[in-house]
Amino acid sequence: MPIINHETRDNIIRATFAYHLHPREHLKAHCFNSSLPDATCKWCGRTRHEVRWGAEVGYEDNPPECIKRPANTEFDVDIHDVILAEEKRFEALLSRAEKLSKEQDLSRLSGAELCKLHHTNGIDPSILESIGVSISQVQHDEYMAEYSKHKATGKAGEKKQEIKICQ
Ligand SMILES: [Zn+2]
Repeated sequence: MPIINHETRDNIIRATFAYHLHPREHLKAHCFNSSLPDATCKWCGRTRHEVRWGAEVGYEDNPPECIKRPANTEFDVDIHDVILAEEKRFEALLSRAEKLSKEQDLSRLSGAELCKLHHTNGIDPSILESIGVSISQVQHDEYMAEYSKHKATGKAGEKKQEIKICQ
């Protein structure tokens, strides 16, 4: 059974399209000119408020996404660069992890050391797994405990959602 009901899901989607998506990140995102609720999308002309509340403000037929986004915007091109950069970043991370694992036996690190490795090098247990370094359940549990401690002190806290503006 789904945890989120249809209405809640619809609300989340509307809020996301109204406030949290940049055209660079999604091919049907709007292009709003400011962070305010009355900011208008330069393509479909709707405001953030209208996109957010849809039918409740008389926009029954309009879906949350932008229905008038042009075929070729300046953002479409960049999306490939974004993906490419992300792939390169990941490859660099893997090769850094491989280099480190040749220098020392990463499978013997304590939970605290694994956590430090994550914070200083960006190498988390899933990266270790990708390069064939396996750690035990105990090590993993210790790592998780250590990680959530840091999280609680804000060192690796969650990223706040920001309101995206089309620029
Ligand atoms: Zn739009």
